[in-house]
Amino acid sequence: MPSRSPDKSTPLMQQYRRMKAKIDPDVILMFRLGDFYEMFFEDAQEAAPILGVVLTSRNGYPMCGVPYHAIDTYLAKMVRANRKVAICDQMEDPALAKGKVVEREVTRVVTPGTVTEDAVLAADQSAYLVSLSRAGDTFGAAWLDLSTGAFLAEEHATTATLSDSLRRIRPRECLLSDEADPSLEAVAREAGIDCVTRTDAWRYDIDSARDVLLRHFGVSSLDCFDMENRTAVVSSAGALLEYVVKRLHRPVGHVRSLRLSRPDGFLLLDEATCAHLDLLPVRGRDADTTLFGVLNATKTPMGARRLRQWIAQPLSGIDAIRARHDIVEAFVRGRGALADIRTQLAGVRDLERLVGKVSLGRATPRDLLAIAASLDAVPALRSALHAPSEFAVRRSPLPVNDPSSLSANNKPRTANCELQTANCELQTANSLTALAQALHPLSNLVSRIRSTLVDEPPAVLTDGGVIREGFSKELDDLRAMAADGRAWIARYQAEQIERTGIRNLKIRHNSVFGFTIEVSTSQLGNVPPDYQRKQTIANGERFVTPELKRYEEQIATARDRSLLLEEQMFQELRADVAAEISALQADASAIADIDVFASLADRALALGYVRPEMTEEPVLELRDSRHPVVELLPDAERFVPNDVLLDGGANRLAILTGPNMAGKSTYIRQAAMLVVMAQAGSFVPASAARVGVADRVFTRVGASDDLARGRSTFMVEMQETASILHNATRRSLVVLDEIGRGTSTFDGISIAWAVAEHIHNVVGCRTLFATHYHELTDLSLTLPGAKNYCVLVREQRGGIAFLRRIVPGAADKSYGIAVAQLAGMPAPVVERAKEILANLEESEHGRDGDSTLARPRNHRSILTPDNRQMLLF
Ligand code: ADP
Repeated sequence: MPSRSPDKSTPLMQQYRRMKAKIDPDVILMFRLGDFYEMFFEDAQEAAPILGVVLTSRNGYPMCGVPYHAIDTYLAKMVRANRKVAICDQMEDPALAKGKVVEREVTRVVTPGTVTEDAVLAADQSAYLVSLSRAGDTFGAAWLDLSTGAFLAEEHATTATLSDSLRRIRPRECLLSDEADPSLEAVAREAGIDCVTRTDAWRYDIDSARDVLLRHFGVSSLDCFDMENRTAVVSSAGALLEYVVKRLHRPVGHVRSLRLSRPDGFLLLDEATCAHLDLLPVRGRDADTTLFGVLNATKTPMGARRLRQWIAQPLSGIDAIRARHDIVEAFVRGRGALADIRTQLAGVRDLERLVGKVSLGRATPRDLLAIAASLDAVPALRSALHAPSEFAVRRSPLPVNDPSSLSANNKPRTANCELQTANCELQTANSLTALAQALHPLSNLVSRIRSTLVDEPPAVLTDGGVIREGFSKELDDLRAMAADGRAWIARYQAEQIERTGIRNLKIRHNSVFGFTIEVSTSQLGNVPPDYQRKQTIANGERFVTPELKRYEEQIATARDRSLLLEEQMFQELRADVAAEISALQADASAIADIDVFASLADRALALGYVRPEMTEEPVLELRDSRHPVVELLPDAERFVPNDVLLDGGANRLAILTGPNMAGKSTYIRQAAMLVVMAQAGSFVPASAARVGVADRVFTRVGASDDLARGRSTFMVEMQETASILHNATRRSLVVLDEIGRGTSTFDGISIAWAVAEHIHNVVGCRTLFATHYHELTDLSLTLPGAKNYCVLVREQRGGIAFLRRIVPGAADKSYGIAVAQLAGMPAPVVERAKEILANLEESEHGRDGDSTLARPRNHRSILTPDNRQMLLF
């Protein structure tokens, strides 16, 4: 800091200090000065390296600046660096503020969780600010996506489910009361939220928060949101809204409702499961190798975001799931209508965010035209959805996939399935109708936009040329006058050349002197006496004449007035668009749904998926199921489909053994993924599927380090397993892969054994357990619901070949050395390992004769169709 006090310096710096005092101390102030946004003092020192601009000094104190027209790019840099920025704008034309400091005001504060600038937002991801609070034993979370106006709240009974929610929704920023319980900040940080903002505790006070919500939504009670008695939720939502409006100066007119999202309507997926199953893309990894990548054929950014949401939060109500399948099935059957719908969707822009920009007062002329272009698709979408003949025609019995893409034992669906389909068709029409009814064509608004704006307006309003000719006579006249003025100047220049005989005389314009007549030094002798000298330049002089000044004023006035008028007309148009926000939001939401349904249908057709039959029974019966991601990997071997059979009784626990690399993980993950797909509303890669609705899907896969959070591999593995044992219910699906691998063999086997027993006896849910500890196959001897499965491999000269088929039976050895050989381990090492193994096995027997756990089992074999012996492991 400089030694002089800035308050004693210029009035400008006093104004700067006043603005600084209006914002939180951790917010950097960008202060508009002429064509730049300037930063001073510590703000400048902090921001310069982030923005990549030079730090200079003014009267001895540090400053740096960025050009005003590129502000969005610089905001993006600040927000990506997790910084908050206040924009201080000039509130009057500097030219009018003669002699005094231009009036300035903080017009908006942009923070990582409230950014709405296109430059920062990823099109297929939502940017949320979350606010958390606690009331007694209940936790409240409210989420706002300011770019679209989506406002949601959740109530949680434990920090564990709150944390799962945070990890799933991944907000960019978390708002907490100054006096918030430290556990809340810990949950937010644990969930990976880097930007945590503390704010005045009174905002979270229930009365003030409730009042904010009542006033904002214009209601007299929160019953309509089912929130009247949910203190934690109301306090978090009210505080968030108040903070955004008052502290960040952001308009929230487009926030039209507050939805209480109920975790109980959804299939719960914890973060570990999302990651293990590769459901959604994570930064820096290829999106194609995720379920989202496979299912995403959406045509609009809203659709892509909605699909993400459906995958991250599948449903758990059987009727809601069937309703989604009904629509996908209708689209699959009505291919013509589906193609029409997808063609129409391709013309729809990011309506959700465009509408957000309208109410934030930031929509440009191009944005309004983009809204009109998007609305153009609505009538065609409506009529395509109303085409019952298209959707009702039963072209083929289910399954709808191409049988040639599946394995030979593709059997017809059961009568039961057909019956269910027939019943569903009635509902399909209803649901399609509901989707169609949610669409508002808003044709008046479209013509209003089109008749007001030119077809291709400039990016910014400031230069004019936005309003269509013929829209306003007054504007057309002013423009003609301005254009006429330019023609006059050209004529005047020609006259003056003629009059003075100065051939190279030129009339030029600059911002300081306006129009001047430029005469080069050699011709100065010919200048007439009525020319008044204005400026000397390197190679001549500049003059004005009273006539020239008069015309200049006329042109300038006409131009200024026409610009002002254009601005006014544009604001009116924007207000008219803003008046339709609710209808536009409904359109955006319905289009997002339609886009996802169309995408799911498109993928089902292209990839040979079938409609899963949903049931409340705790079963999972998959015929010829495939892993949706692995089957599409480039360079992968041909994918071998497999069956899955789980039920709440004799097939409760499937223990899968086989050598490393045989395909165990792929198989068990594929089962879990198909359940997630089915409950998200998608068809599934199988020839037939019967899926009992799960309340949660848990996976504990492999031994992965989580060093970032300072937990060792084994610790992570045990924590995740413990969480499964605590939280799984009879309706859950549990997938365990190589539990206990992170410790010594006997430790590992003992833990895995005890975990399997507990799940079987106490939890009783559907479980797939893959292990290379073949000793665990003994579990099936004592547990009535446990069944052994193994991966078929063929022993051949010099090693083994993987057949990728899962069959009933138990593995008797792990074939680790054979796999090492396949991996290219040098031959002497492989030979030596075999010797050591033989010695170990011998000494093991020698020591305790008949170890129950490590006891080798008899070989089992079958004959293959080509009469070769096949080993079962
Ligand atoms: P494991 O868990 O037994 O060590 P993985 O599931 O990791 O084995 O599978 C090993 C490899 O086999 C993977 O590269 C996978 O792509 C491939 N694979 C697995 N299952 C199949 C299958 N059914 N068809 C074709 N390839 C498969």
